[in-house]
Amino acid sequence: MSDRPLRVIVLGATGSIGLATLDLIGRAPDRFEVVGLAANRNAAALAELARLHKAPRAVVADPAAGTALAEALSGTGIEAAAGEAALVDLAVVPADIVVAAISGAAGLAPTVAAIRTGTRVAIANKECLVTAGTLVMGEAERAGATILPVDSEHNAIFQVFEDHAASAVEEVVLTASGGPFRTWAKANMAAVAPEQALKHPNWSMGAKITIDSATMMNKGLELIEAFHLFPIGPDQLSVVVHPQSIVHGLVRYSDGSCLAQLGMPDMRTPIANCLNWPSRAGSPVETLDLARIGTLTFEPPDTDRFECLALAFAALRRGNGAPTLLNAANEVAVAAFLERRIGFLDIPATVDRVLDRAERDHMVVEPGSLDDVAALDAYGRRAGSEEIEARARLRA
Ligand code: NAD
Ligand code: MG
Repeated sequence: MSDRPLRVIVLGATGSIGLATLDLIGRAPDRFEVVGLAANRNAAALAELARLHKAPRAVVADPAAGTALAEALSGTGIEAAAGEAALVDLAVVPADIVVAAISGAAGLAPTVAAIRTGTRVAIANKECLVTAGTLVMGEAERAGATILPVDSEHNAIFQVFEDHAASAVEEVVLTASGGPFRTWAKANMAAVAPEQALKHPNWSMGAKITIDSATMMNKGLELIEAFHLFPIGPDQLSVVVHPQSIVHGLVRYSDGSCLAQLGMPDMRTPIANCLNWPSRAGSPVETLDLARIGTLTFEPPDTDRFECLALAFAALRRGNGAPTLLNAANEVAVAAFLERRIGFLDIPATVDRVLDRAERDHMVVEPGSLDDVAALDAYGRRAGSEEIEARARLRA
């Protein structure tokens, strides 16, 4: 590799993963050069980051935020643009690493565009793998792009998965913190308010993934994500609840060896792993001190109380369009819960109803193209919204 700095694009720069990425980049200005930043609509925050990191261009996906971005960057020489097409244009600017850290299936188009350039793409945006995993991985293979998993569990597994011994892999285990309601009775979860669900015990993350962690849909999405990232079948995947979030993922081999990656619950470790891969470099993450932590505990997941996990497992096994529909229904349900329009347990109920309805409508078909994914996604959102309206009326 040459000595010039690595050119980095951060999609979702103003979010939790985006900011953690820029924190690492800001500490190593001789190693990294930011060549583009994108966000949804927070023009002021994006402009500030673009100035701080001397990014030559910045894009907001929401066209309504375009004027504010242009004004905030006027006189700086930083190019400002807005809209979904501009977001895709940014994703294909020559770069050594694109960090895909948009939240939700909205990140799919720019992520695929980046992959098609054949560069290295560090994917945090798990929804794009859940909604279109087969197509995304196919595009990567065709373009010769390297996909690096940012999600902590998948990054852990990536570090301990021996490609040369893939046939000896018996099981891939994702750890789950269990979220804020790990020990709650299901009856008590019915009345959970957004602020309670937004208090994650170990990780500080964006709102959508924090709610997904509380329902454990996050772990469900991660099972589907792992299925696409690693050469394993659905029956080789499992989840173990580990409330301390120190062991992030494990791979069990046929000789009885189980390789795990451990680290403090700080996303800057997996992000640093991706930014510096295949080598390693320092990060500001607190040193792991096992003697101080003392106890690591593990327990089986409870899919009766955390129905989302069961729904995601079923969608993974069902395959075809089921994960796309699951993801779409979950995205609208989480948004409705955050707006207090439905209750916490209405999230799994909505997803379940949408998948049932899709079966009846013969919609659970393998998406053969990104247009098919978009159509399935739209169906899932529409069916989900109708279900949400019905539930919201009942609550009113
Ligand atoms: P976040 O909500 O903090 O940030 C999301 C970012 O995406 C913001 O910059 C936002 O402006 C941008 N964005 C949202 N919608 C957009 C759109 N339609 N078009 C363009 N940009 C848009 O979310 P986060 O916690 O940083 O998570 C980002 C992704 O990483 C998610 O897919 C999440 O599941 C995944 N992830 C996050 C963590 C974590 O610790 N935060 C861990 C593992 C995986
Ligand atoms: Mg994770």
